[in-house]
Amino acid sequence: MEHMRRRTLPGGSVHIFRHTTAALSLGFAAILACMLGSIYIGFQHLEQTRGAWQRDALFREKVRAAFLMREAVRERSFHLTFATTMDDFFDRDAQRETYNAKAVSFLLARDRLIDLHVTPREQKAMDRVIKRISQLRPSIDNAMALVVESGNNNQALHQMRVALDGQVGVIDEINKFIKVVEAETKLEAEAATREIAQTQRNMLILSGCAVALAAIIGVMVIIREARNIRRLRAHRDELAALSTTDALTDLANRRRFDEFLAMEWAWAMRLKAPISLILIDIDHFKNFNDEYGHAAGDACLSAVANAMSVVVVRSTDLLARYGGEEFACILPATGAEQARIIAEKFRAAVSCLKCKHEKSSVADHVTVSIGVATLTPQPDDDVAELFEIADAMLYQAKEHGRNQVIADVPDDQSEASAYARSMVPGGLEVIS
Ligand code: GH3
Ligand code: MG
Ligand code: MG
Repeated sequence: MEHMRRRTLPGGSVHIFRHTTAALSLGFAAILACMLGSIYIGFQHLEQTRGAWQRDALFREKVRAAFLMREAVRERSFHLTFATTMDDFFDRDAQRETYNAKAVSFLLARDRLIDLHVTPREQKAMDRVIKRISQLRPSIDNAMALVVESGNNNQALHQMRVALDGQVGVIDEINKFIKVVEAETKLEAEAATREIAQTQRNMLILSGCAVALAAIIGVMVIIREARNIRRLRAHRDELAALSTTDALTDLANRRRFDEFLAMEWAWAMRLKAPISLILIDIDHFKNFNDEYGHAAGDACLSAVANAMSVVVVRSTDLLARYGGEEFACILPATGAEQARIIAEKFRAAVSCLKCKHEKSSVADHVTVSIGVATLTPQPDDDVAELFEIADAMLYQAKEHGRNQVIADVPDDQSEASAYARSMVPGGLEVIS
């Protein structure tokens, strides 16, 4: 028998979806955060690389300007020396002009250096170079003027040596400046390397966190999804059960009964097997309600259903509440005699309840009248026929005084009579 227990629907399907959506949103947010973080760190990395290039270019510019300054100082020294060692018939003025032009080269290189971004230490080193040149300039210019005007006499030679010593000092200062530039650039490069390493670490940490978070959320979502699917399946099964169960008696309802009968009728037709239908109706149930109240009526219906459900032992049989105080039982592959015996068991089971019914004309307790029909369906037969016969038998049972079973016996199963009757007194013993 398809016995259906009454169950309440477990609530919370809305929460399930809300939680799943929240988990999915979190997962997407983590992935988005990962992407944004990667883009940000990527930009940071590009910026650092650009900074390294710029620093490199600046370093080369500074060193180049310093080299040009140093070159100009050396060339000025050379031209001074050359002018001093020339014989008098050579043109010393030409040497002085070149010498002066080199001063312009020096100034241009210095101005270029001033335009470049220099660190405070580099500025100090450059200041020392400029100061040294400013101090030296009168003496070297005087030496050149003396050589040009009076030739390479002793005084001029002396002046030249002094000036050249000064020039060596200037070159030393320029070399020192170059060393400071190198040291400063190295410091900056080291700081940049540390920064790049930190950026890479940040990237690793961020990616690691995002991947771990995404994995955790992924696992959570999978677990939750699996649980949701289980719950939804349980809900579906609950709903399916509820939609086919009678709420008061927990028996199959009319809908389930109709489906089951149609299906079993089709099988019986295909297998050429008999199928029986038992209709059960509580006697004078209106009087019962009137006498004891509707709630007591409900309790009685429930008790009758319970008592009859015990009779149905085959899982292929179906007992249903057909409507009101009427029940129906479908017995597939069951002949008329067997069906009649089961019907009698129903009747006896209800009678044995001894449920008090003082307003019954039949007994002092609740009783039922039962009609039984059995058919081996032929291709042209309709299931309604089976129903009509069972209903007619039930009518007969009512007519003949209630609390009894009347079964239709098909021609091929009984030669004697169209009806086999099982009367009340003695119950099961009488019919068996
Ligand atoms: P009969 O012996 O000829 O079958 O008489 P009856 O009074 O049993 O039949 P009738 O069709 O006149 O009345 C059926 C009653 O069953 C009427 C209705 O109040 C009662 N009934 C139907 N469904 C329910 C139910 O769910 N709960 C209760 N308490 N009563 C019900
Ligand atoms: Mg009725
Ligand atoms: Mg009735």
